[in-house]
Amino acid sequence: MSETIGHHINGEVIRFGGSTAPVYEPATGQVRANVELASVDGVAKAVAAAKAAFPAWSTTPVTRRAKVMFNFKAIIEARIDEMAEVITREHGKTFDDAKGEIQRGLEVVDFACGIPQLLKGEYTEQIAKGMDAWTMRQALGVCAGITPFNFPAMVPMWMYPVAIASGNTFVLKPSERDPSATLLAAKWLEEAGLPKGVFNVVQGDKTAVDALLNHPDVKAISFVGSTPIASYIYETAAKNGKRVQALGGAKNHMVVMPDADLDQAVDALMGAAYGSAGERCMAISVAVAVGDVADALIEKLSTRIKKLKVDNGLTPGAEMGPLVTKVHLDKVTGYVDAGVKEGAKLVVDGRNLKVAGCENGFFLGGCLFDNVKPNMSIYKEEIFGPVLSVMRVDDVATAIQLINDHEYGNGTAIFTRDGNTAREFVSRIQVGMVGVNVPIPVPMAFHSFGGWKRSLFGDHHVHGPEGVRFYTRMKAVTQRWPETIAQGPSFSMPVNG
Ligand code: NAD
Repeated sequence: MSETIGHHINGEVIRFGGSTAPVYEPATGQVRANVELASVDGVAKAVAAAKAAFPAWSTTPVTRRAKVMFNFKAIIEARIDEMAEVITREHGKTFDDAKGEIQRGLEVVDFACGIPQLLKGEYTEQIAKGMDAWTMRQALGVCAGITPFNFPAMVPMWMYPVAIASGNTFVLKPSERDPSATLLAAKWLEEAGLPKGVFNVVQGDKTAVDALLNHPDVKAISFVGSTPIASYIYETAAKNGKRVQALGGAKNHMVVMPDADLDQAVDALMGAAYGSAGERCMAISVAVAVGDVADALIEKLSTRIKKLKVDNGLTPGAEMGPLVTKVHLDKVTGYVDAGVKEGAKLVVDGRNLKVAGCENGFFLGGCLFDNVKPNMSIYKEEIFGPVLSVMRVDDVATAIQLINDHEYGNGTAIFTRDGNTAREFVSRIQVGMVGVNVPIPVPMAFHSFGGWKRSLFGDHHVHGPEGVRFYTRMKAVTQRWPETIAQGPSFSMPVNG
């Protein structure tokens, strides 16, 4: 009998005994556990716990809330290997990469440790005679996060540290494909001093998500996942009067100029296209080769791709692990088949790869396409696997147009030695996060992360200053004390004087 993964509500690990879904170990293809899928009632219990915890938590001194974040940071740092192993077993990414995502999530916890500074309002003395004004930011209430499979620790950590430190309580609905990392986080947060009910985890699928979207006590929804679902979340949450930020899918282009350091560009592409088996929203999936750089780029890339060490993510030295599920493996393989049918040249074919000792794992070797055209499905759609497409264009203006015409606008990069080309690119590109000789320009935690176009619905990016704004609302206070009120009531619009 395999384990049944439950929920974390009001400080307890709870199982309601409802329906379940299998959680795989992608490297072996075995079912590792089953995860319970919460019903509407189960979600209501989590929201009720969060609602009950809100009055005390939101009025807990901000320095005490910060202290919980400091403690939580220390716990994760001490136990990072434990969480990383859970991630590798359920997601498949390499152990070092799993540690890397926890580290990037921890940076948001670091940021949230500074919440006393971040929540400071503004003050103006004497806006009129004897009158002062200030603004302050207050927590919203119960906030909910709905997160994807590809970063089971980091993406939730984009959300809950900022939300909780700001005084909100939280219900997280992680991906049902790798649900365990957030249960560790819930346990460790309480060990760090977080009162019960402030952070709750409900496992589930669409039923649980819809229950959160429709629950009147949920004030804000943060979502990260694919674009069709992000769009649905945005519309439904907004219709129900909630604050919403919904981050969607991506197709990230990296432009390689003829003057780029080619070895540096190839190194960058290897990590950005094949790291985490391409299952990153900031993965580079299109290399745009400008001018005569294409042939050399393809040659260097194909040599390197054939040497990629694809293995169980727990094996030391593994560079790329399996895909998350068999369903996803079949989907990505289907795109490779489609690319061949559509006329792109498959330079490196990673299909039918067998990894010794992991014969039933969901592995796909690195794939490389040349001569990809804008009308092909492998270009238009997000593949989310280790498949890199090379497109050949004559000049940088065409490269910029190509990128700007794409429906997604999450990340992009340019590799060049020419400062003016880079500057023009940064200025004209219609994408939310841009790298200059940096392939994956994920902003640090004290900036905010978010794409443009159909990569983000809503107007707030996540974490950093935008995260604090998202999870708080501003109150403007205008104050006068009794001795100046002695003049009696005024029925005209107040003017300065
Ligand atoms: P997904 O959209 O399938 O699932 C995301 C979440 O939505 C999960 O918690 C899932 O349970 C829930 N969900 C799935 N179907 C639903 C439905 N019909 N109704 C309501 N909820 C539903 O995404 P995924 O496959 O887990 O993750 C990969 C996707 O996430 C990729 O498209 C990737 O680009 C995107 N992503 C984006 C970012 C970003 O910052 N923009 C970051 C990470 C991942």
